Amino acid sequence: MPDRSFSSTECASRPVRVLKFGGTSVGSADGIKNAVRLVHAATETCRPVVVVSAAAGVTDALVQAAEESRADRGSVEAWTRRVGRRYRALAANTLADEALRARYDTALRAELSELRRALQEMAGPNAAAARDVVLAAGERLMVPLLAAALDASGCTSQAVDAATLIRTDAAHGDATVQWAPTRRQVRDWHRTRAAGLPVVTGFVGETADGKTTTLGRGGSDLSAAVLAWALAAERMERWTDVEGLYTRDPDAHSDAQPLQRIDFEQARAWTKAGRLGMHPCTLDPLMDAGIPLRVRCTHRPAAPGTRIVPAPTLAQG
Ligand code: ASP
Ligand code: MG
Repeated sequence: MPDRSFSSTECASRPVRVLKFGGTSVGSADGIKNAVRLVHAATETCRPVVVVSAAAGVTDALVQAAEESRADRGSVEAWTRRVGRRYRALAANTLADEALRARYDTALRAELSELRRALQEMAGPNAAAARDVVLAAGERLMVPLLAAALDASGCTSQAVDAATLIRTDAAHGDATVQWAPTRRQVRDWHRTRAAGLPVVTGFVGETADGKTTTLGRGGSDLSAAVLAWALAAERMERWTDVEGLYTRDPDAHSDAQPLQRIDFEQARAWTKAGRLGMHPCTLDPLMDAGIPLRVRCTHRPAAPGTRIVPAPTLAQG
């Protein structure tokens, strides 16, 4: 495949689009390979900024790891190994190239040391801050893996830790984005960044004094929306394992109807009420900037999914 490093001026004229992949989409080697294909396809028409969650189930495991390590330091090593095993297995099944596997292994070891250190701190006075470092490990282990998989496909990428981009307050575990410094950081980064398609950790932010924070469970949606807002992106795409949004939970209600288009006001009310399976604040920055959101299905990319659009767009059909 041709190299698509996005350093050329030819691509600079294409609009920025933020593509967010959820944990179930990248929870298996097949899922990661599929995500790589979808990113490649997107490069035909836009300059993607990719935001990714932890592999499915990992954040839940890290929550448990933090709890158990607080009560019993003896469990730190077992948890660190367990998380390491999950990502090593994913890497082994995703990356055929030995050099890329070795590169990922270096990143993985460094991140596991951080995880181990943070788990050890769970029993100490800085547990709230340490817990966010623990929780962020899922995304921080995923980003270099997806970046390596993109590189293997011929699409030069750049792994980015959102701590350098998303500024928050110090409310660990459910931090609030500080909009003005975040916009400044994101724009400065995007203007001056090195070549390569950016792959950014969802869920993660940082305080003004350099402490890792997390945005609340499901926070990768919000991370993607924040980046879309700061970059005035053409749109955000939320790639997930469902075919779009439904009027009700389709698993619980047989009369649930798929939604092809909804306006922001309606979607935001539903999101705030916890109905659309997205972080409750996801639509705030998108609405503010009038940036549409498409919810799309990774294993049925041709399906229309759901479009969340400003009301006038909706009226135009
Ligand atoms: N990994 C985090 C969580 O499970 C964030 C996300 O997936 O959006 O809550
Ligand atoms: Mg999620």
